[in-house]
Amino acid sequence: MRQVYLDYSATTPVKEEVLKEMLPYFTENFGNPSSLYTKGLESKEAVDKAREQVANLIGATPKEIFFTGCGSESDNWAVFGAAEALKDKGNHIITTKIEHHAMLHSCEFLEKKGYKVTYLDVESDGMVKPEALEAAITDDTILISVMMVNNEIGTIEPIKELVQIAKKHKILFHTDAVQALANVPIDVKDLGVDLLSMSAHKIYGPKGIGALYMRKGLRLPNFIHGGGQEMGRRAGTENLPSIVGFGKAAELAQENLDSHIEHCRELRDYLVERITGEIPDTFVNGTMEARHPGNANITFKYIEGESILLLLDYKGVSVSTGSACSSKSLKPSHVLDALGVPVEMIHGTVRFTVGDFTTKEDIDYTVDVLKEIVEKLRLLSPVNSEKGW
Ligand SMILES: *Cc1c(COP(=O)(O)O)cnc(C)c1O
Repeated sequence: MRQVYLDYSATTPVKEEVLKEMLPYFTENFGNPSSLYTKGLESKEAVDKAREQVANLIGATPKEIFFTGCGSESDNWAVFGAAEALKDKGNHIITTKIEHHAMLHSCEFLEKKGYKVTYLDVESDGMVKPEALEAAITDDTILISVMMVNNEIGTIEPIKELVQIAKKHKILFHTDAVQALANVPIDVKDLGVDLLSMSAHKIYGPKGIGALYMRKGLRLPNFIHGGGQEMGRRAGTENLPSIVGFGKAAELAQENLDSHIEHCRELRDYLVERITGEIPDTFVNGTMEARHPGNANITFKYIEGESILLLLDYKGVSVSTGSACSSKSLKPSHVLDALGVPVEMIHGTVRFTVGDFTTKEDIDYTVDVLKEIVEKLRLLSPVNSEKGW
């Protein structure tokens, strides 16, 4: 049976070129980068090279890149670090209702510690309104955190504009760029952000390695305490093979950015066109104007996204409902809820994300089986359109 992976926003396979770079660092090149003999120095050089590769992808300098254990850790470090560093200045944080749980749950934790958090509403197309940010700022605001690209609906948020508002009020700005990285061009200097989170496994690198960009001159308190690794800011012996893999994945992403975007956009648009054209009572969530090139988030009225997912899986097709994290609970997506999508329609929503290894044949196969699945489920549905829901 054909296997079709359409969940690239959940994770990506490690590219062959990336794996090839990583492998020697498990075995012969295993030296601890902190060791002073040649074997250690060679490992340190490999870490430095990767730091440069990741920095290049976002227009940063290598000294502004700190490797972490994952994208979630980068988000945690940014928000807890800022909260701790600026606690004498204020206790108010502004974020949005559509952030990843790594940000939302960190903010909820801070609320329990006495911080105040404003969760900005978004428009029905998923965009954060700059005026809403301006209106939420108080004298106590110490951090603004808005994600660059949403993981469920793919919206590309107006970060540069939002940063300008933050700058005017001299407030620190963090962005979760885990979904943006390698899918939209990023230049931290042009954007003006202070902090930016990244993760390797969403860009064809290994799982369990992330990075935080911290603007030169900014020093947040450490999040992991211990040895002097990462220029004294993030302790723990470096995850050498993964760092090397992240670097290689970043280098490949930079080389292939334009062709990657074009490939994904073409297949995504074809998928959306076929589904909305050939399957009645379907609609796309989130704007199509400023959107992650591989993301299609589609509601199938009258049926459950969960059932679609399971029947597609039975045909070898992997998709997701909501985000990978929320799909394990029955709570409807907080992102679609923030867009104002009615709860019964949220339950009928599926996220398809295409990537570098997706082909047109994959899309055709998926839509063909999807048409049968949707038809079958709707016949069984108690709220079928013909029955007048
Ligand atoms: C995947 C993801 C994360 C978490 O990254 P991990 O490396 O899996 O911890 C954070 N934010 C967004 C937007 C993501 O898509």
